[in-house]
Amino acid sequence: MKLYLDPGHGGTDTGASGNGLKEKDLTVDIALKINSLLNQRYENIEVKMSRTGDTTKSLSQRTNEANAWGADYYMAIHINAGGGTGYEDYIYSGLSDSSATATYRAIIHAEVIKSNQLLDRGMKKANFHVLRESAMPAFLSENGFIDRAEDAALMKQASWRQRVAEGHVNGLAKAFGLKTKEAAPAPGILYKVYAGSFQSRQNADDCVAQLKAKGIDSFVVSTSISGVTWYRVQVGAFAKRENAEQRLTELKNAGFPDAFIVAENSSEITPANSGESVSSPGGKDNAPPVTSSTGISILGPTFLSPEQMRRFVKKVNPNAVDVANYYLTFGEYYGIRGDVAFAQAIHETDYFRFTGIVKPEQNNFAGVGATGPGNSGASFKTPEEGVLAHLQHLYAYAAVDPLPTKYPLVDPRFQLVTRGSAPTWTALNGKWAVPGNNYGQLILDLYGRMIDTAVQNLQDIRKSI
Ligand SMILES: [Zn+2]
Repeated sequence: MKLYLDPGHGGTDTGASGNGLKEKDLTVDIALKINSLLNQRYENIEVKMSRTGDTTKSLSQRTNEANAWGADYYMAIHINAGGGTGYEDYIYSGLSDSSATATYRAIIHAEVIKSNQLLDRGMKKANFHVLRESAMPAFLSENGFIDRAEDAALMKQASWRQRVAEGHVNGLAKAFGLKTKEAAPAPGILYKVYAGSFQSRQNADDCVAQLKAKGIDSFVVSTSISGVTWYRVQVGAFAKRENAEQRLTELKNAGFPDAFIVAENSSEITPANSGESVSSPGGKDNAPPVTSSTGISILGPTFLSPEQMRRFVKKVNPNAVDVANYYLTFGEYYGIRGDVAFAQAIHETDYFRFTGIVKPEQNNFAGVGATGPGNSGASFKTPEEGVLAHLQHLYAYAAVDPLPTKYPLVDPRFQLVTRGSAPTWTALNGKWAVPGNNYGQLILDLYGRMIDTAVQNLQDIRKSI
């Protein structure tokens, strides 16, 4: 899809002005933001801009250029003036409401109005040059009134111009079915989305409640910055930046303008990293930090209860075999984080649906010995024995001590592991799974979602008390 993107005016043509602002500066800024968002996020779009700097260009130069290039869509960005307030957009007056141009416009209009905080003045038609002389469907938006103090106050904020750009981009993506770029996630990095950051725990809790009222799940994490404790309201954690940005846009659109993204090492996803702790799902608010800064350890306490693990799985697979108790019991015996091991089992078995090469009757919840088609790995007599083998295999990687002797060794591959070679979940990358570049991160991401769900369930109960 080829988009001709036309920031109005420029050079000697200032456009409208008011409140210390010039239309030509605002339109090019918004258009550049649209262009970079499109390039960052979508792959099947090519953008040509009428101008990227403060240059003079006539209206017919613009439409001639778009026509010669063979653009699929013409988008012009303007700022209004004349004493009104709000947002409106235009298509050519000669077009019917059932035209493709009108359909595209309706989609884009709906998206822009979601994010621009302006009064909706409606979808309009006009006999403007760029709408009439362009050979392809064309759209022109008027983003607020420069001579209106309230509108101008918004225009002065880069974050508002970004939101306006987001709205146009979301509209284009919807109208033209733009395909999201599958960017390779940076290894070990998670993009966490926060709705806000507060010095008062009460304010953070209020924010969680406001999010909940809008159907958005969140939880509070505390972090210490220069000795001051901040309560951040976390809404998600993503391996892909685009997904985090998408979530950020949704949050801002939902009325949380202070939302922000922090790129953090994935070792920081869990409650136990130094300095940041999740408001505990299990009433264990005072749980000490138990990991090193190099990543969350495999050895450590189990925070989630079997019921919390079970509930998380049953939302996806109500018929899942019930092995949560075994993960707690054996986890505690070997000193392994049983709840994270449970997350690993969810990842390996696809929520115990066994959609891969391992069959359910194998009771092999972690793909022990499974290398690919033709070799589906080890089998265990009972689900209990399968979980025991899983935790013994983790023990082989995480610890150097001999296996404690209460239970028999049932992991057939225990002796093949270089003892202590993977003390953390992310250190399993390339070992438990090959190539497995992101293996540990995926497990921790699942574990993070288990925590989110548990916290949400507890908050729901708390509210009903
Ligand atoms: Zn204009």
